[in-house]
This record gives sequence, C-alpha cells and structure tokens, in this order.
Amino acid sequence: MNLNQALTHPIFEIISKSAAELGIDAYVIGGFVRDYILKRGQHKDIDIVAIGSGIALAKQVAKNIPNHPKVQVFKTYGTAMLKYEDIEIEFVGARKESYSEESRNPIVEDGTLEDDQNRRDFTINAMALDLGEANFGTLLDPFDGLEDLEAKIIRTPLDPDITYSDDPLRMMRAIRFATQLNFTIEPASLDAISKNKDRINIITKERIVVELNKILESDVPSIGFLLLEQTGLLQYILPELMALKGIDEKEGQRHKDNFYHTLEVVDNIAKNTDDVWLRWAALLHDIGKAPTKKFSKKVGWTFHGHELAGSKMAYRLFKRLKMPLNDKMKYVQKMVFMSSRPIALAQDVTDSAVRRLVFDAGDHVDDLMVLCEADITTKNPKKFKKYHNNFKLVRDKIVEVEERDHVRNFQPPVSGEEIMEAFNLKPSREIGTIKESIKEAILEGKIPNEHDAAYKLMLEEGARLGLKRHEV
Ligand code: ATP
Ligand code: MG
Repeated sequence: MNLNQALTHPIFEIISKSAAELGIDAYVIGGFVRDYILKRGQHKDIDIVAIGSGIALAKQVAKNIPNHPKVQVFKTYGTAMLKYEDIEIEFVGARKESYSEESRNPIVEDGTLEDDQNRRDFTINAMALDLGEANFGTLLDPFDGLEDLEAKIIRTPLDPDITYSDDPLRMMRAIRFATQLNFTIEPASLDAISKNKDRINIITKERIVVELNKILESDVPSIGFLLLEQTGLLQYILPELMALKGIDEKEGQRHKDNFYHTLEVVDNIAKNTDDVWLRWAALLHDIGKAPTKKFSKKVGWTFHGHELAGSKMAYRLFKRLKMPLNDKMKYVQKMVFMSSRPIALAQDVTDSAVRRLVFDAGDHVDDLMVLCEADITTKNPKKFKKYHNNFKLVRDKIVEVEERDHVRNFQPPVSGEEIMEAFNLKPSREIGTIKESIKEAILEGKIPNEHDAAYKLMLEEGARLGLKRHEV
C-alpha cells in the first residue's frame, strides 16, 4: 500500500533527499502515520527512524532547510530534534532493545527497521512510511497495525507480558490510547497489564501524570478510569478514587456508589470544559466522602465535612504525584471545597446567599457552576430537570447581583487608611473589626456596596466600639 498522500508536506522531501545524500534509509513512524490513517488531523510531532545515525540525519536535514534550524541533540538517547515551522521532528537511529528488571531504560544496540518496529509499544504505533526515493510513501506494517486500526484494537507487537513488564509506562499508554481513540485493549494485553500492575512503581510520577492528564483531556475520560480500575492500576495511582467504590447498606439504607458517580461527573464536565484543572476538580470533588462516611439511624448515610476533607486530600494527592503545588492546585482545592455550595443554595436562592457565593468563589464562580451542573447525575428525569432549572436560577441571580453589587473581586469601599484617619488610629484590631462589619453588611444586603453608605456604617461601628472621632 502506498500512502504518499500523507507526505505532501515539504519537510518529507527534504528528509528524503538528506537521507539519500547520506546513503541511508529513513522512515516516518508512529503517531504521525497512525493519526493520518485515522484522519485525526495533522499529528503535531513527526518521528523519523534512520537506519544509521539519527543525529547525522537531523544535521543533514537542518543543512537542507533554508534557515538552518538548530538541532537539539540528546546524546544519551542517541536522538536529535529540530523544529520546522510549527512541527517538531524527532530523529532516532533504528535500534534493538533489551531490558533489565529494575529499569525501564533498555540496553540499546543498532538495529534494522524491523528491530525498531519490534520495540514499539503497539501495532498501531509501529507502522512506518518509506521515505526512500524509490518507494516513497510505501507502508511497512509488519504487525497488521492497519487491521487493528480498523478493528479499533490496542495490541502489542510482541508478547504483551514481556512488553509491559519491560516498560510499564506502556500500561498507562495503552489505557490512554484506548481512551483517546475509543479503542478496545485486546484481552491478552489487558491480562498482562493486570499481571504487571505493581511494576508501575518503577515509573516516575511525572510520566504517570502526563498520561493521566491525557486521559482526563479525552472526550470520555471514564473509559480510561474504568480501565485503570479494572486492571488494578488505579489502586497504585489514585487510591483515593478506589476508596469511593462500593455501596454500603445498613438497615435497608444505601448510598450511591461514589466512584461511578464521579466518573459520570467527569464525563459530564468534559462536554462543557476543556480546562484540565476543572476536570481534575470534577475527578476529586467527592474524594472526601470515603473518610467522612457515617451512618446513623436517624439520618442514614452522611458525609459531613467531606468538602474540607477532600480539599486537604487534593493537596496531598498532588504532592504525592509530584504535580505542581501552585495556583492550579489551589484552584482544584477551592473547587473541591466549594463543590456543594451552589447545591445548598439552589433550594432557596436568596440575594445574600448568592452574594456570599460570588464573594467566596470570586472569578471562579462560573467554573463552580459548571462543576455543580456536571454533578447532577440523577436518573430521575423530573429531578434532573428541576435541579438544572434551579441552577439556571442561581446563574441568573449571579448576573443580577453582580451587576448591582460588584462583589466578585471585592474591594472594601472604605479603606483601612480612611478608618485610621477617621478615628485617629494606629494599625490595630479595631480596623479589621470595622472592615469585617462593612463587608458583612454588604453581603447581607443591609447596605449597598458604596463608599458613602459604608462610611456611615463605619462611623456607627466606631461609636459602638467606643472610638472617638478625630477632630478636624
Ligand atoms: P502522541 O504524540 O499522541 O502521544 P505518539 O504515538 O506519537 O502519540 P509519542 O509519545 O509521541 O506517541 O511516541 C512516538 C512513537 O514512539 C510512538 O508512536 C511509538 O511508536 C513509540 N513509543 C513511544 N513511547 C513508547 C514506549 N514507552 N514504548 C515503546 N514505544 C514507544
Ligand atoms: Mg507523537
């Protein structure tokens, strides 16, 4: 089969010519070929295998590109990378790999194209296109990757047990591709992943998180989390989610399975946001329910304080997975912490409650609403409609209250300096007390969010605290 239609980009001519100049063979391999056949749109990076030195080929290619882009050489891996327009092109010499027990870094020797295809993770990632002038565009597909693409199957070129044990990151990649492409992992692979699950411990957290993020960024993230659960990997990576699984029953009372509920919430939110951090918030919004779960005869199952517990757990989870402990983490914590607020409020949408919500959530109030709407997973159509309508009311009220009161990024209408001036005060606790009273009065709707009204209240509060006005 010839796929030279895939190679219309001028860079392929340049690579072909450069390889001929060096007298070596070169091939495009991996994601580019796969995504071309799947019509997934232009794959953002291109992987080139040279039968010979990948670094030498990269340098030759750079010579043949008019503006001579810089070649980045990774000596330890024997690879090189250059950028052409907005495409990253990786060059590697064909290699044969053998692995040891302790590490996912193999011993590497020079090899043939077949050797190189053998070391690839999946049949659909092992397809190559010939860049030689004679056979330009010929598909080299020794493991019938094309058939697997059509059948939507993830399969390893060699024995899956060895493939996954050699490099356990491939377990995450298998599940990630299954999620991104909506493919099935063939049964032998699935068994091999289950069998080798504890080998995930030799993979760095950073690499695991890269795959987790790709799963979360997919259209239907639950596919991946269900596979992680089914293979037993989830317990190693996100035990907090595993702990949500199951339904307890006491005295005829049952609670919902919060694991499956969470996955529904994540799938729901994936339809309404591409923000991976908001998706993380959806994934973690209920993790506090496992440690806070209680049963009492009077009220049945409760999860009091699960939002606070969950937000603390989110921090520890980020830390364990070596994820950045920055404003993104704080954002996820805040979303988890506030995740029940709009629900409580929707029962009775008062101005003051909405002002408080907007004040506390600040610029994240819209994201919070997206999260809460995704959280509606009831199978009762009447309730489903009612809850959505309630949130619609909350959203309208947010707009209305915000137009009038501007509490989203609240700035005290009377400054600390003004208070000090008015009562001839040095920095002291009274200033905080007065500011707090003003803020409370605004949120409660007792006074408008305006300077003059706030100043008047300041004078009253000062008098109440026994402060003397500064004589002018
Ligand atoms: P994407 O770019 O969407 O992640 P991709 O298939 O291009 O998909 P890359 O990580 O860019 O994946 O890797 C490029 C190619 O290198 C893959 O198609 C595959 O052939 C090979 N590869 C990558 N990682 C591994 C691995 N851990 N084991 C074996 N082969 C791998
Ligand atoms: Mg790629």
